[in-house]
Amino acid sequence: MLPATMRAARLHEYGKPLLIDELAVPRPGAGEVVIRVRGAGFCHSDAHVIGGDIPFLPCMPLTLGHENAGEVAAVGAGVRTVKDGDAVAVYGGWGDGVCDYCVSGDENLCMQAQWVGLSNYDGGYAEFLLVPHERYLVKLKRLDPQVAAPLTDAALTPYRAIKRALPAMSPDYPALVIGAGGLGQFAIKLLRLLGGSEIIVADIADDKLATARELGAQHTINSRDTAALEKIRDISPGGVAAAFDFVGVETTLALAFGATRRLGRVVQVGLAGGAAALTPLFSWQPEVSYSVSYWGNLRELREVLAMADDGRLTPIALELAPLDDINDVYDRLRKGDIKGRAVITP
Ligand code: NAD
Ligand code: ZN
Repeated sequence: MLPATMRAARLHEYGKPLLIDELAVPRPGAGEVVIRVRGAGFCHSDAHVIGGDIPFLPCMPLTLGHENAGEVAAVGAGVRTVKDGDAVAVYGGWGDGVCDYCVSGDENLCMQAQWVGLSNYDGGYAEFLLVPHERYLVKLKRLDPQVAAPLTDAALTPYRAIKRALPAMSPDYPALVIGAGGLGQFAIKLLRLLGGSEIIVADIADDKLATARELGAQHTINSRDTAALEKIRDISPGGVAAAFDFVGVETTLALAFGATRRLGRVVQVGLAGGAAALTPLFSWQPEVSYSVSYWGNLRELREVLAMADDGRLTPIALELAPLDDINDVYDRLRKGDIKGRAVITP
């Protein structure tokens, strides 16, 4: 039995703290599922949204939270594959299900997407979460939902970015990871699992660089250093085969393009709003390809969860925080004070 009301952390206005509101617990309609949220990872995208840097919400107030896992609490008529009590991770890139992107499996690219906690659908910074279809749920075998929650974005997003860049990678040239926060730390782990190259990590925070070394990065560079690009050239005179930018400001994009070898790949993941100023031959090499990687698809999430479930992909440092501490988590993430990922436990 679902309770009548629940607590949820909602954004009412850009630039203002989230408010803890009392809301009606959603009831599942036909085909829908309600999840009792056990963990909701706090992504820097939420920080961009709350701060108003990415003011793209269609409506407010809205419950944020797009990295969710928990247990099935109620199912609507016709739901076949999950039942009450099942531990599940929630795929959050909800598309319209009928366009070319959706039918070919890349629902994350749907032009009509209604992403959980970033659209008209409330997210997981709440005790309960309405999921519009059972296909968005991946059953967890051994993984704790609090561990699984950040995998649905902080691991899934770099997984897609790296997997799609593998053809450009080579054991003769390192990979570059810029920004070793939640996504960047999973990127280091995934590069070690999937790629054959050495890893260079650039960040502005020395503690993040120390974490990167603990996770297996061979080289770290503080990118506040004006000679950061030269240092990358010292490590690999030919450049890097792939650069993954998990920040996305002008200076990080310039570093990514400046470091990448011919035929290499620059993959932008960070959404901090920067644009790269590119001068062929001078600031970047010919035949470098550039893409913006966008979350991941459901198949990729199932792959990530399978790797985590059998122990190949281990968690980064998780910091569990109750719903009441969510604004403190937001402040600390902005300041760079979260070691790995904060997970809200409503
Ligand atoms: P985070 O706050 O956990 O980590 C950010 C890291 O970047 C920190 O280690 C910080 O020290 C470092 N950093 C900040 N400014 C820097 C700079 N100028 N140079 C080098 N390093 C710098 O953030 P996160 O949750 O890992 O998210 C990273 C970015 O990815 C955010 O912009 C977020 O919005 C974006 N994101 C994109 C997608 C997508 O689908 N494209 C999905 C999720 C998150
Ligand atoms: Zn995110």
